[in-house]
Amino acid sequence: MRYDLAIIGGGLAGTATAYYAARAGARVILLERRDVNLGASGSNAGSIHAQIPFDPFRHLGADWARHYSEVLPLFIESIGLWAGLEDELGGDLGFVAKGGLMVAGSEHEMEMLREKSAIEQAQGLQIDLWDADDLAERAPFLTAGFPGGAFCPIEGKADPFRIAPLFLKRARAAGAALRRNAPVTAIAREPGGFAVTAGGETVHVARVVNAAGAHAAEVAQLVGVHVPIEAHAIQVCVTEKRPPLLPWLLYFTSEKLTLKQAIEGGFLIGGGWPARMRGGPVVDHRSVLRNLALAQRLVPGLGEVQIVRSWAAMVNGTPDWRPVLGEVPQVPGFFLNLFPWMGFTAGPAVSRAIAALALGQAPEVDLAPFSL
Ligand SMILES: Cc1cc2nc3c(=O)[nH]c(=O)nc-3n(C[C@H](O)[C@H](O)[C@H](O)COP(=O)(O)OP(=O)(O)OC[C@H]3O[C@@H](n4cnc5c(N)ncnc54)[C@H](O)[C@@H]3O)c2cc1C
Repeated sequence: MRYDLAIIGGGLAGTATAYYAARAGARVILLERRDVNLGASGSNAGSIHAQIPFDPFRHLGADWARHYSEVLPLFIESIGLWAGLEDELGGDLGFVAKGGLMVAGSEHEMEMLREKSAIEQAQGLQIDLWDADDLAERAPFLTAGFPGGAFCPIEGKADPFRIAPLFLKRARAAGAALRRNAPVTAIAREPGGFAVTAGGETVHVARVVNAAGAHAAEVAQLVGVHVPIEAHAIQVCVTEKRPPLLPWLLYFTSEKLTLKQAIEGGFLIGGGWPARMRGGPVVDHRSVLRNLALAQRLVPGLGEVQIVRSWAAMVNGTPDWRPVLGEVPQVPGFFLNLFPWMGFTAGPAVSRAIAALALGQAPEVDLAPFSL
């Protein structure tokens, strides 16, 4: 059988693209080298982000932030889509969007948050600047004395175990085929499309979407294309369950931190701290300690809480944090769905747009600024 679309990679990007393309009537085959959701999409911290991350803003500056801020409309669109996905896909995704608060660790960092918020607001993102009195009144669970913060009402969290499997289920119901244990090892151009070899079998397709996450550079290389995707080992930890304390996603400008409380009660502590490589990614206990100390500095109520699990995984990164999206100009019919660092948030909207592009339709969001 000849397919309209082969999608390489069974993470959120691949399963969501398969769903939107199959729903639109395309004959789709999803090729996954291991099993679905075993990569970053099923191992991430589950934060739904919209604010420009502070750590690169500090290191790369305001010009970088202005260039990067072109992704904010994608986050806004995607969070809007996330909000309707439980109904559309018919399943619980653990999606909650009550807001995210970036707490300033010093007056200087508060000033930087003001500068950053102006860049974010220029892209249509709502950011409310809070002063020390606002923090004392609205966030009494924080250590007293921080000068303020930036609150974004659309941020939140969702469950990384649920979204890609549910997209896959609905994609298959719409007719998409799946090959597990099928690493793509060759892609050859042929009249009318491509011959894609995966797990020893060759399938013939009109178009290809590379959604291979941290391994996307190797897959792109199969058609002679260089993409600036890097693989980084990072980690997250989760504590024992406690009664509700944190209503929002929290960040801290002093050092890398994301902190939130899962619906079940555990605190998820992350922010992109480095893990170690020992054949694959493994937890670095020095990162656990520093990450935990930071969380405790922000929220003293975490002082007595035990960590029960930590894990490491490979995240797809790019040096400038921008995604690489759309059709590759020198290889017509070959598409990239590569959203780095925060691809859990952006996955739904970006994948819907990539599916539209790959089927020759107009996408709902403009991906042109992110083409190769
Ligand atoms: C620890 C951690 C925490 C994170 N926290 C957050 C967060 O809180 N919020 C957020 O928005 N983002 C977060 N991210 C980032 C986010 O998880 C990723 O950007 C996103 O999941 C990428 O999705 P993907 O589908 O592109 O890649 P993946 O989920 O990695 O899927 C890629 C798939 O491609 C398959 N593959 C690779 N090569 C081949 C091949 N040759 N043939 C066939 N299949 C292949 C892989 O096996 C894999 O299943 C985090 C990431 C990590 C690792």
